[in-house]
Amino acid sequence: MRRKLVVGNWKMFGRLARNKALLEGVLAGVSGIKDADFAVCVPYPYLSQAQSMLQGSRIAWGAQNINQFEEGAFTGAVAPGMLVDFGCRYVIIGHSERRGLFHESNEIAAAKFDAAVKSGLTPIFCVGETLAERDAGLTEQVVATQLDAVLDRAGASGLSKAVVAYEPVWAIGTGKTASPEQAQAVHAFIRQRVAWQDAKVAQNLVILYGGSVKASNAAELFAMPDIDGGLIGGASLVADDFVAICRAAQN
Ligand code: PEP
Repeated sequence: MRRKLVVGNWKMFGRLARNKALLEGVLAGVSGIKDADFAVCVPYPYLSQAQSMLQGSRIAWGAQNINQFEEGAFTGAVAPGMLVDFGCRYVIIGHSERRGLFHESNEIAAAKFDAAVKSGLTPIFCVGETLAERDAGLTEQVVATQLDAVLDRAGASGLSKAVVAYEPVWAIGTGKTASPEQAQAVHAFIRQRVAWQDAKVAQNLVILYGGSVKASNAAELFAMPDIDGGLIGGASLVADDFVAICRAAQN
């Protein structure tokens, strides 16, 4: 039985005082929610704040990117082991903003995935198509190529230590959400593709949906059989909104 997981992706938002109020609100709000897991992926400078406020709570924390190398002359980069030093459980890998704005290829994303797993972090590996790709009937082909890059490099055993997030690019930050049926179809496709390599890993794989999830649409998305929770951008920055989405994940 897979447990639902709701993860906030703060992107490049936050300041110390705002984060404190947000985390206090989320901590208070999720305290009574049963049978689900929660996390926030914060900007690097706030990992220490997240660690000190969330340690011992029900909310795990993590980052939004890593470098694929453990150390070296990579100005501005952050190594997987550095996240481990701050108690991170999760790291988002291959977010469409990294792929699009920072030109991260499938190969780079797969290398980062592999490095995360080897450091004991749980990658939240993002896949998803653009609107043009969906309109051209290429959704499955795009998602398969993104997933295969990781399967080829880390195998099903690598995926057994990860979470996948299906995030249609056209739904991220746009207010347009995939319908529960559209999302379910891609989630089922992802699970089936992993099952070709390892049925047990596929069965246990937590697959999140991301793309304009709100309190008003979370419950119907999370009710689909292959949707195991959400990766939440904008709505994770408002405590009441994020908590309402977390509540929708309650079994
Ligand atoms: C995201 O950043 O991964 C995301 C899904 O953003 P939003 O919820 O704002 O669409």
